[in-house]
Amino acid sequence: MKALDELTFDNRFARLGDAFSTHVLPEPLDEPRLVVASKAAMALLDLDPAVAETPVFAELFGGHKLWTEAEPRAMVYSGHQFGGYTPQLGDGRGLLLGEVYNEAGEHWDLHLKGAGMTPYSRMGDGRAVLRSSIREFLASEALHALGIPTSRALCVISSSTPVWREKQERGAMVLRLAHSHIRFGHFEYFYYTKKPEQQAELAEHVLNLHYPECREQPEPYLAMFREIVERNAEMIAKWQAYGFCHGVMNTDNMSILGITFDFGPFAFLDDFDAHFICNHSDHEGRYSFSNQVPIGQWNLSALAQALTPFISVEALKEALGLYLPLYQAHYLDLMRRRLGLTTAEEDDQTLVEGLLKLMQNSGVDYTLFLRRLGDESATLAVARLRDDFVDMAGFDAWAERYKARVARDGDYTQEQRRERMHAVNPLYILRNYLAQNAITAAESGDYSEVRRLHDVLTRPFEEQAGMEQYAQRPPDWGKHLEISCSS
Ligand code: AMP
Ligand code: MG
Repeated sequence: MKALDELTFDNRFARLGDAFSTHVLPEPLDEPRLVVASKAAMALLDLDPAVAETPVFAELFGGHKLWTEAEPRAMVYSGHQFGGYTPQLGDGRGLLLGEVYNEAGEHWDLHLKGAGMTPYSRMGDGRAVLRSSIREFLASEALHALGIPTSRALCVISSSTPVWREKQERGAMVLRLAHSHIRFGHFEYFYYTKKPEQQAELAEHVLNLHYPECREQPEPYLAMFREIVERNAEMIAKWQAYGFCHGVMNTDNMSILGITFDFGPFAFLDDFDAHFICNHSDHEGRYSFSNQVPIGQWNLSALAQALTPFISVEALKEALGLYLPLYQAHYLDLMRRRLGLTTAEEDDQTLVEGLLKLMQNSGVDYTLFLRRLGDESATLAVARLRDDFVDMAGFDAWAERYKARVARDGDYTQEQRRERMHAVNPLYILRNYLAQNAITAAESGDYSEVRRLHDVLTRPFEEQAGMEQYAQRPPDWGKHLEISCSS
């Protein structure tokens, strides 16, 4: 276990030089205070969890202090936002403080979001508010606990620094961890600004540090792109299977590592709704829940375009063609497991689709339905759950099909069935209204609810005594919360 001053840095991205990022110092927040820290994320840096409560922790992650080995940099990138190309973006309010090595030999980017203005701030103030910092923190750690690839969050620091959004709010910072903060938009930036040397340097950097196994392949860059396609297909399959809606799938928010990245107006579905749009400035529903699947491919095509200097168009197209079948395979595999099935049958896809359609029409709670389906035998569970459906005859027909499918699946006890299903069907998810409750308390200086909710969400599959209130459908006020896109 390490103390805070014992971290070891090796700032490989900073060493790429000024064409890739700019040296900027964090701008401290007034009266920094720890809101919440993730012990699991601290463990990734070998940090002793006790250090989170020391004043120097809030000073470091509130922008007051810096390790001598840190080299804070604002990265430059660009990206396609809502389908249109924005030529110049970059870390407008975040800084890559440096890269830390842990004892296992893994390296982690320390990225401080809300650290003040940079050359890429455009019209922004360089700040992040408490509300959005808490949401990013909770989402990162909750997705990780569900097994969805994601950036991680070490802590949230609040302050008395006023930040103006629709109203005055508190400035905050969130410390994000990832193996890399390189986005699709990094490649697009060097491609569209016609800087082939830097683009090649970036590609080498990513290949060497993040996809070293692709070096062994006859065409290393192509192998790397294929791997990126595969990882994205798997990540988005998990989003769809768990009802996660990202909300802003611009290419500057897509990680080169295939991890969930840059949390804004995201939401987990309460009632199942394929057309759900969590970003209320997304008037056309470009990033609606069901559109995430084709948009994943659209984004990969944008990356492919930026990789045309290294890989033939034909090979890129072929690799892109892997996306949908891989997505389907991962999604169906996970949905089978969520339904308690251990074998594969051709018709399973329509079994899943049939259920989702019924849920959609009746506004059934997606997470709770699947959790309860495993509570009892298939026969007892469907008998109990049918009351939730408006189209009972439709549900009965589906239930007959499901029971027959379960009977063909294998011979196992209800105990085994429950254990297997509960291991993939969470009881607790980060519902928007739960986040909102925690935020309201935190805005008045009470961080106990954020901490409790974080704690519950780190063990989403495990029933926790006294935590029933976190496993409920939202109350009326919490059903269709409009989450502000300003953050
Ligand atoms: P986002 O929508 O958070 O992914 O941000 C899109 C771009 O705007 C990124 O380049 C951000 O760094 C930048 N940005 C967002 N909010 C701010 C802010 N308050 N100040 C400066 N830049 C910002
Ligand atoms: Mg972003």
